Amino acid sequence: MSEYSAWFECINGCPTHFGLTEVIYRCPECGDLLDVHHDLAALRRRSAAAWIKLFEQRYRRNEFPFGSGVWGKKEWVIPFLDNENIVSTYEGGTNLMWADRYGKLLGVEDLWVKMCGNSHTGSFKDLGMTVLVSAVKQMIANGKPITAIACASTGDTSAALANYGAAAGIPAVVLLPKDKVSPAQLVQPLANGALVLSLDTDFDGCMAIVQEITHDPEIYLANSMNSLRIEGQKTVSIELVQQFDWEVPDWVVIPGGNLGNVSALGKGFQIMYDLGLIQKLPRIAVAQAANANPLYLAYQTGFETFEPVRAQSTLASAIQIGNPVSYKRAVKALKNFDGVVEQATEQELADEAARADRTGMFNCPHTGVALAALRKLVDRKVIRSDQRVVVISTAHGLKFANQKIAYHLNELPGIDSTYHNSPVEVAADLGKVKDAIRRFAEKSTLMEDSGGR
Ligand SMILES: *Cc1c(COP(=O)(O)O)cnc(C)c1O
Ligand SMILES: [Zn+2]
Repeated sequence: MSEYSAWFECINGCPTHFGLTEVIYRCPECGDLLDVHHDLAALRRRSAAAWIKLFEQRYRRNEFPFGSGVWGKKEWVIPFLDNENIVSTYEGGTNLMWADRYGKLLGVEDLWVKMCGNSHTGSFKDLGMTVLVSAVKQMIANGKPITAIACASTGDTSAALANYGAAAGIPAVVLLPKDKVSPAQLVQPLANGALVLSLDTDFDGCMAIVQEITHDPEIYLANSMNSLRIEGQKTVSIELVQQFDWEVPDWVVIPGGNLGNVSALGKGFQIMYDLGLIQKLPRIAVAQAANANPLYLAYQTGFETFEPVRAQSTLASAIQIGNPVSYKRAVKALKNFDGVVEQATEQELADEAARADRTGMFNCPHTGVALAALRKLVDRKVIRSDQRVVVISTAHGLKFANQKIAYHLNELPGIDSTYHNSPVEVAADLGKVKDAIRRFAEKSTLMEDSGGR
């Protein structure tokens, strides 16, 4: 037994507690979501300096499972899991890139991008899924009759679930909106042997059905309304502060769809603050696609009213969500972190991703949304040029190769690809090739200018 403990509590404070290995997703009294709470008094018995030392000793080392960016913080995640039930692919530990050239274009001196997509399944979803699948493996070991894990997905959750399910030997069932995920995202769960159900609806439609399916206690629900995932995802904040030698940035910009990830981001900073590892909190900016912007609209009313929207099609398909399940959690985080919400149109997100790619990134469209929002916030001087800013890049651009190619061929419907770069067809002739290089060299100087303001 661990000397630390954690349990579920209702997000509205109903006086109910449940074990983390119970099969439960909602408060039986009010029907709302559950959050994981930790015994902070027990965690405080170890000093902030001692936690830092422990985390530093483990980070990226080989002692299983503590080299993982998530499980290196095990006491803060799920302290009591048996290590033999932990299903880890050594997730986390993603690079924090100093976006020097891109920052100069925007007028931000100290800009960093946390590359959460440089990971096992190509998105930050690994951070939460390792925790959820490990907890399920523990439940099965404890005798719970769970036969499968299921999720609805906009593509990346299903890839992570199928992968960790395969690593654990637990069957995975994924519900995807037909034709709304990228080919790379579709092939991932296929390759990992999941049951892939392609439904003629949108994400919100898949989510409604998976919630019904998982009323059967033998099928465990893996969506982020299940806050076990949030516990893993919150380690991104801890890890990025660790990468700054335990300094807190001024701003974190993050794209939001179902809003689990921004809730997790807030939770990670909060626990470091509560345990004295950090003395201040950053501000948070959530970036939404204008085509799927219920949080942005609610923010305009000061969060007085919230209306789900019917999400319109967006290139940022992983955040094409009209009725975010973690809305209340996100509002709480935004209020605690003096947060703001910004949005980006299809034109803006596609151009911004491409512009940043030219400075040495390879952005997914969701990161494009975050970067476009960052640009607006800098232009409006909400974010000042001398502040340290971290952008959370949520997936690898290679998952979205098809739409990125279409952008560069200037073939995206309704979008004028300002920064497109098409292949140059040239005869296999030395002179012609040299000409092409000369033209490119001339254009490249211009490119530098056109990328600026
Ligand atoms: C899931 C996902 C998001 C959105 O995260 P939420 O927790 O749903 O807000 C953003 N980008 C990518 C690439 C994702 O896979
Ligand atoms: Zn309740």
